Amino acid sequence: MQQILNYINGGFEPAKSRFFIDNFNPATGKIYSQLPDSDADDVEVALESAEKAYDAWRLTSSEDRFKILNKIAELIDLKNESLALAESIDQGKPLWLAKNEMIRSAQNFRFFATAAMQFASESHNMEGVAINYTLRQSIGVVGCISPWNLPLYLFSWKIAPALAAGNCVIAKPSEITPMTAYLLGEICTEAGLPPGVLNIVHGLGPKVGNAMVSHPRIKAISFTGGTSTGKHIASIAAPMFKKLSLELGGKNPNIIFADCDFEKALKTTVQSSFLNQGEICLCGSRIIVERSIYDKFKTALVEEVKQLKVGNPLENSSRVGAIVSQMHYDKVLSYLDIAKAEGGQILLGGHALKMEGELNEGWYIAPTIIENLAFDCRTNTEEIFGPVVTISPFDTVEEALQMANCTEYGLASTVWTQDLTKAHNVAAKIQSGIVWINCWLLRDLRTPFGGVKQSGVGREGGWEAMRFFTETKNVCIKL
Ligand code: NAD
Repeated sequence: MQQILNYINGGFEPAKSRFFIDNFNPATGKIYSQLPDSDADDVEVALESAEKAYDAWRLTSSEDRFKILNKIAELIDLKNESLALAESIDQGKPLWLAKNEMIRSAQNFRFFATAAMQFASESHNMEGVAINYTLRQSIGVVGCISPWNLPLYLFSWKIAPALAAGNCVIAKPSEITPMTAYLLGEICTEAGLPPGVLNIVHGLGPKVGNAMVSHPRIKAISFTGGTSTGKHIASIAAPMFKKLSLELGGKNPNIIFADCDFEKALKTTVQSSFLNQGEICLCGSRIIVERSIYDKFKTALVEEVKQLKVGNPLENSSRVGAIVSQMHYDKVLSYLDIAKAEGGQILLGGHALKMEGELNEGWYIAPTIIENLAFDCRTNTEEIFGPVVTISPFDTVEEALQMANCTEYGLASTVWTQDLTKAHNVAAKIQSGIVWINCWLLRDLRTPFGGVKQSGVGREGGWEAMRFFTETKNVCIKL
C-alpha cells in the first residue's frame, strides 16, 4: 500500500513516531494509502530546516522567486492528468472537476510568481520636512493549514503568496486528503525550490496543526477550515500576537428576484448548489426566491437536479461524486433527519445512495432539495457542507435581506436580478465578504477574498495576501 511521506528539507521522510494513519478512497469507502501520523517533533524538525533556509530565501531576488514559482505552475500543468486522478481518488470529486482544479492550482502559483515581481510599497512625503518610506519585509517561518474540500487548490492559494513574499513555510494539508500535497513536494524539488523553503508535515489537526499554531517561532498562521477549529486556533494564536488569517465556514444565500434571467439563474443555481457534492465553502445552500416565480423556479430546479448523475468520480458522466469521509457522510445525513424533524418537506433526494460493485461501500448522497422550513431553523442556519439545499419564498427586498443575513456566517452570496440599482442596493446590505451578481464562482485572483461574522477574519488574494505575509515597517527620514 502506498505510504505518503513528509516533505522536509527537500527530502521525504516518515513521522518520527513511525506511525501511519489510514487514508480512504471515498468512492469505494476502502483504505488505499497511508499518511504519516506526525506530531510536535516533526514540526520541530521542519521548523529547523525552514529557519536554516530562510536567510538565503528572503534574499533571493524577486525574479528568481518568480522563476521557481512559475516553474512549479508549469509542472502542475504538465502533470494535470496524474494530479487530477490522485485528487479525485483522494477526495471523491469527479475527475473532470479535479482537472479544472489542477489548472487553478497552477494559476495560483503563476499569479503569485508575478506578484513577487510586482509587489511594491508606498512612500509618504512631508513636504520640506521629512520623507517616509514603507518597507514590507518577509515575516520568517509561517504556517499554512488547509482543509479537504479543494485540497491542492486551497493549499497552493496559501503557500504561493507566502513563498512569493520571501517566507519559508510549514504547511499542513488535511489528513483526509493528503495526496496531492505529497505530490507537490516532488514538483517543488523538480522546480528547483531550495531545500527547507517549503516543508509539508502530514497528520492530525490536534497534533500537527496545534503544534504549528502554538509554536512561538512560527510567526503567522494562515488557516482555512471550520469555524470551530478557527475559534480554537485564534484562542491560542491571539495571546501570542501572531498574525492570523482565518477563512472559515459559510451558509451562503442565493437571492433570486422575479426579474432575473430565469435560465441563467436556474443553471447557475444547480452548479452553486451541487458542484463538488456541495463541498465548496462558496456553494449557495439557501435558495431564496421571489414569491411570484417561486413555484416555477422550484419545479424547474427539481427537474434540472434530477438530471445530475451521482456516481463513480472517475466516469466522465458523473456530475456528483462521493462524500469525502464516513464522518462527513454521517454528518450530512444527520442534517436530513434534523430537516425532517423541523418540518422540512423533501422535494428531491433526502437519502443516501448505494452504488453497485466495488463502489458499494462508498459514501454517496442524493442531491437534496428541501422546502417549508423557517428561515432561522437549524437546517437554514448551520453549515451542512454537502449536497443539500433549502428553498424558500420571499415577498419584499427587506424580507430577502433579513433571511439572507440571519445566520452567524457571512462568506458569499449571489443576487439574481436584471435591475442593477436593486442589485447594488442589495449587494451593499448583504452581510458577506463576497457578492456575485448574476454569476457564481467567477474569480479574479486580484480581488479580496474572505468572510465577515463567523466566516473569518482577514482577506486573501492579490495584494491582501502579499500584505498578510509581510510585516510593515515605516522609516521616517528628516530632511
Ligand atoms: P477543519 O477545521 O476540520 O480542518 C481544517 C484543517 O485544520 C485541517 O488540516 C485539520 O487537520 C486542521 N486542524 C484541525 N484541528 C486543528 C487544531 N486544533 N489546530 C490546528 N489545526 C487543526 O475543516 P475541514 O472539515 O477540513 O474543512 C471544512 C470546513 O472548511 C468547512 O467549514 C468549510 O466551510 C471551510 N472552508 C472554508 C473556506 C473559506 O475560504 N472560507 C474554504 C474551504 C473550506
